[in-house]
Amino acid sequence: MASPFVDKVTIQVRAGRGGDGAVSFHREKYVAAGGPDGGDGGRGGDIVFRADDNMSTLMDFRYKRKFAAGDGQNGQGKRCSGKDGESVVLRVPRGTLLRDADSGAIMHDMSSGEDYVACRGGRGGWGNKHFATPTRQVPRFAKPGLPGEEHTILLELKLLADVGLVGFPNVGKSTLLSVVSNAHPKIANYHFTTLFPNLGVVYVDEHVSFVLADIPGIIEGASDGAGLGHDFLRHIDRCRLLIHLVDVSGSEGRDPVEDFETINAELERYSPQLASRPQLVAANKCDLLDDAGRENLNRLRAHVEGMGLRLFEISAAATTGTRELMRAAAAELQHLPPIAVYEPDYVPPAPDPGRAEDVQIKREGDTWYLEGEWLARLVASVNFSDYESRMYFDRNLRAAGIYDRMEAMGIRDGDTVSIYDIEFEYQR
Ligand code: GDP
Ligand code: MG
Repeated sequence: MASPFVDKVTIQVRAGRGGDGAVSFHREKYVAAGGPDGGDGGRGGDIVFRADDNMSTLMDFRYKRKFAAGDGQNGQGKRCSGKDGESVVLRVPRGTLLRDADSGAIMHDMSSGEDYVACRGGRGGWGNKHFATPTRQVPRFAKPGLPGEEHTILLELKLLADVGLVGFPNVGKSTLLSVVSNAHPKIANYHFTTLFPNLGVVYVDEHVSFVLADIPGIIEGASDGAGLGHDFLRHIDRCRLLIHLVDVSGSEGRDPVEDFETINAELERYSPQLASRPQLVAANKCDLLDDAGRENLNRLRAHVEGMGLRLFEISAAATTGTRELMRAAAAELQHLPPIAVYEPDYVPPAPDPGRAEDVQIKREGDTWYLEGEWLARLVASVNFSDYESRMYFDRNLRAAGIYDRMEAMGIRDGDTVSIYDIEFEYQR
């Protein structure tokens, strides 16, 4: 079924890379040896998601599915930092779930309205201006920028509505929504006119309002993937209350009690949680009741009330009973928990710890610069004000063969070893 409605889409996003730090020296006429003045690289831009209340589908992602934020610029001489990369802001309908595409785990629920940074831009590298010390005046190196995070994300729309309308096709769900709310859904006397969910705000009283969702009609077998119903049930996953609409007019030769039970069974098969959501039952098309219809209505009433549910007689087309129904829904909502927010359950994989063999050793006069992923992690884990921890650090460097490598390169006692923001004097 070709529908302009897009409510699930996989996209690839990548944050920007950090710019490299610059190696540069101050130059001025008549000044012999200027100091290092290489600026820092700029930060890479982020990938940010923003909830937009004016959007109701993920249609914007139908054709464009790859997004990259801007890279940070490299640093320059004269202490000039590179410009930060531009962040990319992706707008999605409020209530969109962001899932890790591989595992399906939830990364974030875009329902709070707050921006969510899905991928952070890489940090810019430091320019050589940071690396001058009294004993090392000519640092001929700078740090490279770091790559930005990337991710393949599954966007899944889960609308935010307080109340969801359920029922067979053609029972009058869209009509009801149109007469009680500001929404203008498509209404027609054939099945499946509603191809995508509609939301409307129902104003019951001053300060009392709620959001009502009309989804395409559920049909038998929908929860097994037949027809449209299954796909759309998830839009009412979050609803706090269901209004179950039943056509009692018999105009389509249907049996209302059977219909009511079939829909409930479909809900149950899709999600027992959804099936256990409180329901108000609305017997619609009461304007068409003949004797057979009245008998239908009475049977339905006995059935529904026997289950402890309330039944409302309405005619959506004639707007009779609809106000009472909406008032009852609003009153019910007062006692119900707020719309569910999905807790993230995505656990980012542990970053690659790097290998000690990949640690880079650079020599600059009497100073030895070490860097690498493995080392950065080790440094981050050590408390350098604590003797035991320093010994642990030292043992690790030795065991990883890093001292041996420096020995082979000619390090001597008293040389300086510089590791990120730590410096110490080398002693064999
Ligand atoms: P949906 O498929 O459940 O959304 O049903 P619609 O709202 O599209 O309505 C299906 C048909 O039933 C349309 O022709 C409506 O005009 C008609 N209809 C809806 N409510 C009533 C009602 O209360 N009385 C009568 N007579 N017809 C209705
Ligand atoms: Mg409809």
